[in-house]
Amino acid sequence: MTSSLATVAYIGATILFILSLGGLANPETARRGNVFGIIGMAIAVLATVAGPRVLPGGYPWIIGALVLGGSIGLFAAKKVQMTQMPELVALMHSLVGLAACLVGFASYVDTSTVFPTPAEKTIHEIEIYIGILIGAVTFSGSVIAFGKLSGKIGGKPLLLPARHWINLAGLLVVIWFGRAFLNAHGIADGMLPLLVMTVIALLFGIHMVMAIGGADMPVVVSMLNSYSGWAAAATGFMLSNDLLIVVGALVGSSGAILSYILCRAMNRNVISVIAGGFGTGGGAPAASGGTAQPAGEVSPIVAAETAELLREAKNVIIVPGYGMAVAQAQHTVFEITKLLRDKGVNVRFGIHPVAGRMPGHMNVLLAEAKVPYDIVLEMDEINADFPDTDVSMVIGANDIVNPAAQDDPTSPIAGMPVLEVWKAKTSIVMKRSMASGYAGVDNPLFYKDNNRMLFGDAKKMLDEVLSALKA
Ligand code: NDP
Repeated sequence: MTSSLATVAYIGATILFILSLGGLANPETARRGNVFGIIGMAIAVLATVAGPRVLPGGYPWIIGALVLGGSIGLFAAKKVQMTQMPELVALMHSLVGLAACLVGFASYVDTSTVFPTPAEKTIHEIEIYIGILIGAVTFSGSVIAFGKLSGKIGGKPLLLPARHWINLAGLLVVIWFGRAFLNAHGIADGMLPLLVMTVIALLFGIHMVMAIGGADMPVVVSMLNSYSGWAAAATGFMLSNDLLIVVGALVGSSGAILSYILCRAMNRNVISVIAGGFGTGGGAPAASGGTAQPAGEVSPIVAAETAELLREAKNVIIVPGYGMAVAQAQHTVFEITKLLRDKGVNVRFGIHPVAGRMPGHMNVLLAEAKVPYDIVLEMDEINADFPDTDVSMVIGANDIVNPAAQDDPTSPIAGMPVLEVWKAKTSIVMKRSMASGYAGVDNPLFYKDNNRMLFGDAKKMLDEVLSALKA
C-alpha cells in the first residue's frame, strides 16, 4: 500500500471513529456507533499492517501478535460477566499505558532514525519522556483500579502523611531528571534519568488510585480512560503516526469531559479527586466492601405485599443499582414494568450517574432488556418527582440512595447528590442483607418509617413479585 493510500485509509478511519463516538452518545444509536468503531479499527489495522512503514520481515511478528492478542481478546469477551466489565476496561487501559512505555523505550534505543536538526532530536526526546511518563502513570494506576474494582484490593483509601507534598516532590524530581535526560550525551547516559522518571511515574499512579476512597472511584476510572487516550496520542507522536495522535486525542478529551461531568454530578472537585483521599471527607475513612455496622430497626416486607403496593400505586419510580446487574434482574424488571404500565400505572426509572460500576451501566442493562428509553430518566430530571410518587422501588442500589450524603456532613459521601427515594409515600429496598454498598457506609434510608426491606436476591425477589402481580 502506498503512503498516500494509507493516509486516505487513516482519514476514513478517523471519520468513522468520530461517527462512532457520536453514535455512542445515545442508547438508540449506540449499536450503530459500535459498528462504525469496529469498521474504523479494521481499516486502521489493515492500513498500518499493509502500509509503507512495515517491512516484509516484520509480518510473522505482526501476525503472531495479532493471533495472540486477538485470541486473548476473544476469550475475555466470551468469558467476562457483565458485572466484570469495569475491571476488564481498567485492565485494558493498563495495556495502553504499558504499550506507550514500551514504545517510548524502543524509540529511544532505536538509532536508525536520523534527525536533520538537533531541535528535531530534542522534540523527539521530549515526546519520549512525556509519553513514558503518561504511560507509566496510566499503567500502574489502572492496575490498582482493576484491583479495587475486582475487590482484590480493599476500597479503603491509603492516606500517607504529607501525601500532597510527596506528589509535589515527585513532580519536581521528574522535571529535574527531564532536564538531565535532554542534556544526556548518548543513550547509555540518558537511560538512568528515563528509568528514574519511569519508577516515579509508576509509584505516582499507584499512590493516586490507592488514595481514592468512598464513592469517588468512577471519576478515577474515567480519568484513567482519558490518560490512556493521551498515552496513545503520545505513542502516535513517537511513531509519527497521525491516526494514533487523532484517536488518542479523541479518547483523551472525551474521557476528560466524562470525568468533568461525573465530578459535577457527584458535587466533587476534579483536582481534589486526583489529589486523592477525597472520598474520606472530614469523617471516618470509608471501609469499602460491606463492612459498615447497621444501626437501627428495619421493617421487612415480602414479595406478595410488594406486589400489592405496586398494584395499588398510580406513580412508581424504580431505582436500579449494582445489585440489579449482579442478579441479572433487568429482564424481570422489564416484565414487571410492562405489566404495571398495561394496568395504567405510571412507571419510570431514576438513573444515578454513578449507579453500578461503570458510567452508563444501568442504561446498558435496561436497553438490553428493551425498557423504553423515554421512561428512563436522569437523576436531575426525576428527583423532584419523588414527593408525588406512591412507591419508589430500589433494586440492588445503596450508595446512590443514601440520605446521609445530604444530612451527615461527616459522611464519606457527604455532598454527593442522591436519588431522594425516601420522599415517596413508601420506599422498598431490595437487597440480600444489611451489607453496605461500594463506599462502605451505613444507609439511614433502611431505618426510615416509610421504608420496607425486601430481603433476597433481586432476580428471585422480582420473579416472586411478578408471579404475585400475575396471580
Ligand atoms: P452499591 O455498591 O452502593 O450497592 C449495591 C447493593 O446491591 C449492595 O448494597 C448489595 O447489598 C446489593 N446487591 C448485591 N448483589 C445483589 C443481588 N444479587 N440481589 C440484590 N441486591 C444485591 O451500588 P450503587 O449502584 O447504589 O452505587 C454505586 C457505587 O459504586 C457508588 O458508590 C459508586 O461511586 C461506585 N462506583 C461506581 C462506578 C461507576 O462508574 N458507576 C465505578 C466504581 C465505583 P447486599 O449485599 O445486601 O445484597
